[in-house]
Amino acid sequence: MSSKKVNMQAKSEESPASEKTIFEAIATNDLDEFKNILGQHKDSVDFFDENGMSVLQHAAYKGNKDMVQLLLDRGADVNSGKHEYNYTALHFGALAGSSEVCKLLLDAGAKPTATNSVGRTASQMAAFVGNHHTVATINNFIPRSEIAFYTIPQGQQTEPYLPFFLVDPLHKFVLGVNIHPVRLALNLQNSPILLDNADKASKVLELLSKKEMTRGTETNEVMSFKYHYLSYIIREIHNIRDKQRPSGKKEEKKYDVVEVFSKKLLKPGKDGVSLDLMDSFLKDCVREFPYRECTTFHQMVASLTSKDPPSALSIINCTINGQRGFVDAIPYCSTCGEEKPAKKCSKCRSVQYCDRECQRLHWFVHKKACNREASAPVTTSNSSTRIIDTNELSSELQNLIAG
Ligand SMILES: [Zn+2]
Ligand SMILES: [Zn+2]
Repeated sequence: MSSKKVNMQAKSEESPASEKTIFEAIATNDLDEFKNILGQHKDSVDFFDENGMSVLQHAAYKGNKDMVQLLLDRGADVNSGKHEYNYTALHFGALAGSSEVCKLLLDAGAKPTATNSVGRTASQMAAFVGNHHTVATINNFIPRSEIAFYTIPQGQQTEPYLPFFLVDPLHKFVLGVNIHPVRLALNLQNSPILLDNADKASKVLELLSKKEMTRGTETNEVMSFKYHYLSYIIREIHNIRDKQRPSGKKEEKKYDVVEVFSKKLLKPGKDGVSLDLMDSFLKDCVREFPYRECTTFHQMVASLTSKDPPSALSIINCTINGQRGFVDAIPYCSTCGEEKPAKKCSKCRSVQYCDRECQRLHWFVHKKACNREASAPVTTSNSSTRIIDTNELSSELQNLIAG
């Protein structure tokens, strides 16, 4: 500790000793030390270790978002690099599996298309090491300016397509990686301003969809479809809200929208398992995609019409988020498809949820199975305890549903 301090104090502007300490501070995740050194270093923070790896690249590789943010605030160049294999800071963030670091770098202008010496982008490297959430974060990223563009009146317009106050909520909505319709509905519920301006938001999403299709060599069919999909979901939820709101308190109605929407989508079909309504709702979305010449559309239709097809949701998720569907061994929220949810049904422990809201929304489906699990094989010796348990738990669930 003391020797480090001596180094810091003794540092001159180009002193390799001081640079070494900042790399050490990163290596040990020592944020205080890192801030200290950075505070004393008045020049550009774009300096390199003996392998040509910049300070920012080290912080990204360590997955330390605080350090990355501090460096970006100090003007670190996200795309500079002298790394012998042409890795960028984004490559390192991707290898570290830190979606947050990647997001910061992308926000600061990191180029997702930059390739390393073996021709791999950051997202491909993340896929290579199995960091799927990071892959999706990078692939779903769009700069805020793409959306802010529509706050400027175009051509003869006196009013722009998008008011300023919708830029950030819409940007956040678009960057979401989980495209499960119920998750999107919950996101909209948490961002009521977007839902209050659903017509503007969905219009801008359709314009963005069109733009992605007309970029020449830069055309991004997947992103185009994602915009179309998000626009479709917003319109649907907005329609439900319009129908649901003859009178009454606004707050209550907003609450209901997600419930009505999820009841429609999560209702099991005749076999008790497959989500037929969800499937037809999403197939309609694919059918309404206006760019029918593109490969992405053809691939989706081919999957949907194949023998024994996967669900429309998994096809759409594969299209937007890469090869992964909701198929891995990772646990998912039974309501909204969020990965690694924090909670389990306290009664049967066989299904998982993000939180009480997700559990509440799924209860109309789960209650049968849950009761079955809970009332299944009870051995004679402890049957009385079992009954008490079940009663306690069901009152707990009742409270949960009520609350
Ligand atoms: Zn959930
Ligand atoms: Zn249960």
